Amino acid sequence: MHIHQTSESSTAITTGSCLCGQVRFAIHGELAGIQVCHCSQCRKAQGGPLATNIPVNQEQIRWIAGRDQLRHFESSPGKLRAFCPQCGSPVYSQRSSLAGVLRIRAGLLDEQVKTSLDSHQYVASHASWWPVPDDGLPRHEEAIVPASAQAPH
Ligand SMILES: [Zn+2]
Ligand SMILES: [Zn+2]
Repeated sequence: MHIHQTSESSTAITTGSCLCGQVRFAIHGELAGIQVCHCSQCRKAQGGPLATNIPVNQEQIRWIAGRDQLRHFESSPGKLRAFCPQCGSPVYSQRSSLAGVLRIRAGLLDEQVKTSLDSHQYVASHASWWPVPDDGLPRHEEAIVPASAQAPH
């Protein structure tokens, strides 16, 4: 899983917002692949069978509106989930061990989104009523942890 740095030649800009529009942002540069997370926490946080997350470097994100309105819920130690307090849209999650990366919820992005699915993670935890599709994508039993974020033993 690579997170592309914004290059000088890249002019790609992807915009997104929460449901009510109070929170707006733009992502500069290419988008990484979308990680489909089947963990039980994402299920509750999204109100659906899974979450679709794009890891984005903080410096790629320009907040247009509402950043100071965001609320954060620490769903497990060091894991924050940011949401809009007005409409409840999940906006991103962030791990303290990888604080420079926000995992933006792909459903907030304005169409058309120029990336595609990367992989499934936490497949062992998938909802009983939502079989993981046989789509040929890599499947991970747990989270994908980039090499750069792995804590030394
Ligand atoms: Zn909102
Ligand atoms: Zn998850």
